[in-house]
Order: sequence, then C-alpha cells, then structure tokens
Amino acid sequence: MASEKRSFQAEVSRLLDIVAHSLYSDKEIFLRELISNASDACDKLRYAALMQPELVGDAAEFRVLLTPDKAARTLTVADNGIGMNHDELIDNLGTIARSGTAAFVQNLSGEQGKDMALIGQFGVGFYSAFMVASEVEVIARKAGEAQAWRWVSDGRGEFTVDPVEDGSAPVRGTTVILHLRENEDEFLEPHRLRAIVKKYSDHIALPIVLKDGDKEETVNNAAALWTRPRSEITPEQYKEFYHHVGHSFDEPWLTLHNRAEGKIEYTNLLFVPSSKPFDLFDPARKHHVKLYVRRVFITDDCQALLPSYLRFLRGIVDSEDLPLNVSREMLQNNPILARMRSQITKRVLGELAKKATDAPEEYAKFWENFGAVVKEGLYEDFEQRDTIIPLVRFRSTASEDLISLDDYVGRMKPGQEAIYTITGDQLDQLKRSPQLEGFRAKGVEVLLLTDPVDEFWLPSLGQYKEHQFKSVTRGGADLAKIAADGEDKDKPKEADDKPSGNVAGLIAIFKLALGDAVKDVRASDRLTDSAVCLVADEGDMDMHLERLLKQHRQLDAAAKRILEINPRNKLVEGLAAMVGKEGASNDLGEFAWLLLDQARIVEGEPLPDPSAFARRLSGLLEKGIAFQPAA
Ligand code: ADP
Ligand code: MG
Repeated sequence: MASEKRSFQAEVSRLLDIVAHSLYSDKEIFLRELISNASDACDKLRYAALMQPELVGDAAEFRVLLTPDKAARTLTVADNGIGMNHDELIDNLGTIARSGTAAFVQNLSGEQGKDMALIGQFGVGFYSAFMVASEVEVIARKAGEAQAWRWVSDGRGEFTVDPVEDGSAPVRGTTVILHLRENEDEFLEPHRLRAIVKKYSDHIALPIVLKDGDKEETVNNAAALWTRPRSEITPEQYKEFYHHVGHSFDEPWLTLHNRAEGKIEYTNLLFVPSSKPFDLFDPARKHHVKLYVRRVFITDDCQALLPSYLRFLRGIVDSEDLPLNVSREMLQNNPILARMRSQITKRVLGELAKKATDAPEEYAKFWENFGAVVKEGLYEDFEQRDTIIPLVRFRSTASEDLISLDDYVGRMKPGQEAIYTITGDQLDQLKRSPQLEGFRAKGVEVLLLTDPVDEFWLPSLGQYKEHQFKSVTRGGADLAKIAADGEDKDKPKEADDKPSGNVAGLIAIFKLALGDAVKDVRASDRLTDSAVCLVADEGDMDMHLERLLKQHRQLDAAAKRILEINPRNKLVEGLAAMVGKEGASNDLGEFAWLLLDQARIVEGEPLPDPSAFARRLSGLLEKGIAFQPAA
C-alpha cells in the first residue's frame, strides 16, 4: 500500500527551513524538547487514567527511555504516555496550533542570526529534532486504541503516515527515532546524553532512563522540582523548569516558590517571564498555569485558579486538598480553589510591590511588558484595587522615567486639584498635542496614557486620593486657578488674559460661520503656541475613546466638539484685528473652517470634506500672494 503523503503547514515548512540551515550553537536542546513532550504526554495519561484506569492497566510506571544505537546511528526517545492517533499525528506534528504563531513566523526576516534569536525565545519544540536528524520517525499508539501509526519525515516540506501492522510498536505511547546527521555522533555517547539530561531535564518528575547496552540507568532526579526545598534548587534548575512548564525560552524575571500551610495547603512555583508571550493579548485572556493535585497534573486550563490580569504568569500550583478526581464542573465554583486564587493573587501582587520599591529599574522592565495587563485588574478586581494602584506606572510630561500616582500627587502645583491625563495611541504624538501647551507652560504634569485599557480603568476609578482624573482634552482647563512656577496664584489676573473685544467679536463670527459643526467656540486657557485645538465638553465622551469606538464600529455618531482659539497666537491676533473691517467677515468665515479642519488634522481625525479644505486653503493663499507687492 502506498504511504499517505502530506505537506507541512506553510509556517512549519518555513520554521524547518530556518532550523535546518542555521548554525545553531545549542543543538543539544532538541533532547530537552523531546523529553519535555514525553513528560507532558505522561502527565496527560496519568490524568486521563484517573477516570479510566484501564488506559494504563498494569503498566502504570511512567518513564522516558533514551536508547542510543551506534551501529544504526539512531537515538530513540520513547515514552509510555498518552500517545497519538492518526489524526493527532497529522495535526500535532504537521501544523503549529499555538495562537499568535502564524503572525510570528510571518515576521521572521530571513536573516539567520536574527531569526534564530527570535526562535530561541519562541522555541521550535518537536521540530528542533531536525537540527540533528536527517530523518525523524515517530511511532505512536494512543492509549486505549488498537492501531499504531508511523510518521516519517526528512523535514523538507512533506511527511508520510502509515499504519504499523507488524506488531513492532509498543503497547502505548510515542517513540521518536532520530536518524542522526553526519557529524552528530556525539549524541550517541552515553556520557554526553547523561550530561544533557542533567543540564536541562533534571527537574522532570518521571525517570529518564538511559539504555547503555544492557545497562539501564535513571539519569535525572525524577522528583517534582517544586517538592524540593528552595535551598536545594539552583537558579539554573528553576530556569530549566520554567522553560519546560511555560514552553518559554527566556529568563524568568521573577520566581515565586512557596508552600502554603494552614487551612488549605498547596505549593506554588510561579514565574514572571522577562519578555512578552505571543498570546498575551489573545481575546480569550487565558492563563496557562498548570494545576496539580498531589503531584498529579490535572489541567492547564483552570481559569478559576488565577485572575486573567495575571495571565502572564507561568508555572504550577499543586493542591493538597482538592480531590484527585476533580472534574471541570467542580473547578468552576470550588471554595478551595477560590481561596487559593485569592491567596496566590495577594502573594503575586505583594512580590510585585516589593520589586517596585526595591528595584525600580527592573520593575520598569516588567511594567513595559505587562503593565497593560495588570491595569485590567483595576476595574475587574475591586478587592485588590487598592493593592494594584501603587503598582501602576505612568509616562508623563514631566520626566522620562516611569512614575507612580503618588509621585504625581506629590508634585502637584498649588491650586491644582485634578490629576491631568491625555490618552492616545502613540507616545510621540501625544507629547505634541496642542492641548498640553498651557499645562507645560505652567509646569503642570500630565499623565500620557497609551494603552487601550486606560479608557476603561480611568472612568471606573474616577479619582485617586480625592483628586479627580481629568482629561486635558475635555471640559474647562482650570489652568487659571493653578499658579505657574514662581507666580502668586492670589494675585489678580491681568486684564489681557481675558479675550479682548476683538477676540470676542472673532469668536462671534466663528460661531456664526461654523454653526452646527461645533458645539461651541471659545477662548482657550490651555493653548500657548498653537492657534486652535478641539476639546470635548465636560459631560461628553473622551475624544480618543470616541475614536477607538468608531474604529471598532461600536459608535456611529460622534459628539460635537468645542473649538478653542488662542488669543495669544499671532494668527488669531491678526484675525481679531480684521473684525469690523469692511468685507472681512466673509474671509473670517473661511478662516473659521480652515482652523477647524486644522484642529481636526492635529487631533488625527479624518476631515469630513477634504476638498472643501483644499479649496479654502488655496483661495486664501492666492489672496495672500495677491497682496504681496511685486518685486
Ligand atoms: P508544544 O510541546 O509546545 O505543544 P511541540 O512542537 O513540542 O509543541 O509539540 C507539538 C505537539 O505534538 C504537542 O503539543 C503534543 O500534542 C504532540 N506531541 C509531541 N510529542 C509528543 C509525545 N511524545 N506524546 C504525545 N504527544 C506529543
Ligand atoms: Mg514541546
């Protein structure tokens, strides 16, 4: 019978291509990946067997067997875990299902060094076998099924799948046979294999047995890492465990290994990554921390275990109290689980707070990666809100460093009551917003908010220590009440701070010209340089939020804006001087529209009628040229 031939998913082919053609220095990690998969497979079967003991029968002793064969030049990694059936072989070893992966692979540049660094972070899992093997054979029998299958590939675009009929397949589990490339003989040497297992896989909780001729020898420690005392675990071992459990390839930024004793007992070994996982902003917002019950893996999808604003955590929680046969339904509303969740949440937040005070620079790195996720807790977890607030960091107009709300409040100006904010998509663009000018001039700090989540927690929190959050693009600017540096706020205001008669006249003309296009036209406190800006009225939605909602089609009609004009601006002064002159009011009406469009452009809003804008601009420019005396 002809073999069933299949092609790898395009992304897999691309990955394999890069892997095969790179001079990867850490080739030996292929063994870590295969052992990691074997261990996962045993965990899965151990769990399935809680409900269906017949799946393991008498052969309940889980193990991974490493067999180097010098004559055949093969290295075999065999487990007696859950195995795979025909369809699973095709899906699991022919595609990459993990979220975010397709985008990741598309971002690979084709430059070897750069790509390998990226892949190093991301991990190639099973496919790393092709770094050392010219052909990989996988023989698998799913626990409880009769038929075994053989998957074979040289890693160049295609693989085949055939039934195994000759009785040579083991009763269950997966056997990976690597036909080693030339020059890879080192992976046939028992001492070399022993060293690699010790280095990367010592923490694996089942025996890894090395077969050397007739001798069989367990080469790893084979006890679950988290059951050992902290003092006996090296940073390297923690790191290797993190790589295994989190499918991660970076350094852990923080390691939290604790044993809780008392009303409920459990051990947590949790890690905060030092780089952003690819699926951090997946809409499902799931965490992947693994739940164990008395050393038996239960699930990595128990969402009740942690709040989703801590979904960057990797690692395990091992409960002593939950029943082993705990079902998914039981996990939904389980009081033990709820208590673990609350204790672990507090512990994690507490450790973050410690880092924030003891090591602000390190903390800043954490915040850059995960701050946007943590802020979700401000509106999702009222119980922890007061614990989360001091952890939040901000960019602001006053310093390059990240600051806390307490830093901000401590620097407020005499007479300043509100905490001023501005929200937008990009920091650079925000910093150039005209609405900030008056605040800058008075030395009033403004928080620059660029995460979409800011639009949610801000209104939900409303205030901090009795200071309202207030957008500088909304309502009155109250700047008149705040003393500038070195200025006495009680001193009566100069008369020229008020719009002069001309400016009042100009405003009246603008209002008449613009009619319904704006809610109001008024003189601005918040501008010092620019001629005009748009602001939202006190009770209206923030302009940035409105834009976001419109982009996502959650909102049809936008509220009308207020156009603020700057009486201290040269152009505005000039226009004010034209008020009352014969025939000027038509031109002033044209200017009103031009300035409104200009304010929209600066705001990043689309112009409702770009051709009208162009026509007016040309018209006024032409007039300007006509007034120039000829040379
Ligand atoms: P990951 O382990 O991150 O999921 P891998 O590339 O290492 O990615 O493996 C892909 C998938 O193949 C695994 O998720 C698993 O479903 C399956 N798999 C790999 N090795 C084994 C094995 N030894 N036993 C059972 N399934 C396996
Ligand atoms: Mg894997």
